[in-house]
Amino acid sequence: MSFNTLGLSDALLNAIEKKGYTIPSPIQEKAIPPILERKDVLASAQTGTGKTAGFTLPLLQILSEGQKLRKRPVRSLILTPTRELAAQILENVREYSEFLDLRSMVIFGGVNANPQIRGLRNGVDILVATPGRLLDLHNQKALSLASVEILVLDEADRMLDMGFQRDINKILNLLPTKRQNLLFSATFSKEIKQLASGILHNPVWVEA
Ligand code: AMP
Repeated sequence: MSFNTLGLSDALLNAIEKKGYTIPSPIQEKAIPPILERKDVLASAQTGTGKTAGFTLPLLQILSEGQKLRKRPVRSLILTPTRELAAQILENVREYSEFLDLRSMVIFGGVNANPQIRGLRNGVDILVATPGRLLDLHNQKALSLASVEILVLDEADRMLDMGFQRDINKILNLLPTKRQNLLFSATFSKEIKQLASGILHNPVWVEA
């Protein structure tokens, strides 16, 4: 199996080559094709399996194929529980989108919000966020989520463990109903299954 057969553009394949990856990891091999087919995906994957590239690469492919909107409203929202994870995901997004015309940004709590608010004003295609800060900035009208096409819930089990269920529900209410949903979790408790069934439509189930 090579990355060439997964349906990714040359711009992405070049970025993958630059990272030094030669073969897709199992989760990438299984998750990338259904995501590119615009299906909802429910993925069971631990950290270290390559799951970040598993959702980021197809997401970038879809956004780069789509119509650019003049004001660059957020078209993909990636929710993750901690600032460390958020920063790490942004780094990955930036690396994989090096040869694409897409803007990305990260917002998380515990730091001054003003630079984040200023950054959002310039427009951003891909927003990586922790739930609390996202809601804060939305309440301050610093961003709109009305154009989100792809929602990613990364480490969904940890988000629930950290008490983000209510924030996630509020965020879901701010998104367009027609969108693609990707949920990644290491474990599948009753609560996660409930969350997933409320969000995903006929999901393809993939396991690392
Ligand atoms: P993740 O599970 O997304 O945190 O990724 C774990 C690590 O695997 C990261 O350091 C990635 O850069 C690396 N990685 C992701 N995909 C591949 C791949 N196909 N080949 C080699 N390394 C990879």
